[in-house]
Amino acid sequence: MASLIIANWKMNPKTAKEAKKIFFGIASGFRKIKKAQAVICPPPAFLSLFIGKAKKVKLGAQNCHWEEKGAFTGEMSLAQIKDIGCRYVLAGHSERRKLFGETDEMINKKVLAALQIGLIPVLCMGETAEEKEEEMTFRVLKEQLEKGLNGVAKKAADKVILAYEPVWAIGTGKVCGASQAEEVNIFLKKALTEKYGRKIADSISILYGGSVKSDNVLSFVKDAKMSGVLVGGASLDPKEFIKIVQAADF
Ligand code: PEP
Repeated sequence: MASLIIANWKMNPKTAKEAKKIFFGIASGFRKIKKAQAVICPPPAFLSLFIGKAKKVKLGAQNCHWEEKGAFTGEMSLAQIKDIGCRYVLAGHSERRKLFGETDEMINKKVLAALQIGLIPVLCMGETAEEKEEEMTFRVLKEQLEKGLNGVAKKAADKVILAYEPVWAIGTGKVCGASQAEEVNIFLKKALTEKYGRKIADSISILYGGSVKSDNVLSFVKDAKMSGVLVGGASLDPKEFIKIVQAADF
């Protein structure tokens, strides 16, 4: 399977001019990429600038509401995300969980609604520093996985992407070692196999996210055998982002 690299720009950059510079920098660097795939998740205000603008780079939304439409001020529906031309949507990013109080139940509604409408949800999961300290990583992941995928039928499960993003590694410069990432990869694959069977589990991409850069990406996509990476800060630098994609282009 070709590596999948997802860029999460979060609430950056400040202007459309800057956003275009980053996006088209990445799009032009992509000409030399053979197999790796990329998805860029710009902030909602800039999404429409990039629809249909780069063949090889897909677009995703950073968030969504699970309801079809209605009185939800400030929210973006999945129908709107799909209509604008996105194929992917993040669900359960740790910043949404921590800063905006998203629960596993809300995240599950987003995953189900995304699948229902034909979008690919990227379910983000990961333990905090305290949970890691208390050796709760696998317990936390099991709960987030079970609750996040609650009600996801076998026939829809292969459309889901998982992202293991240890909270302590996001935006901190601290990266998870390849052996821990591999252990998590194996753990999640096993849990998926128990739930959906081997064939479907093998077709579900599991990404790593948390301070990924061009000089550490191989430890995840090669050593830990993850299906790709989710990149925050480094995706705002087109040269660095392309270096990450190039390293994972095998
Ligand atoms: C993220 O936002 O999901 C992320 C992994 O950020 P960073 O790469 O900056 O740690």
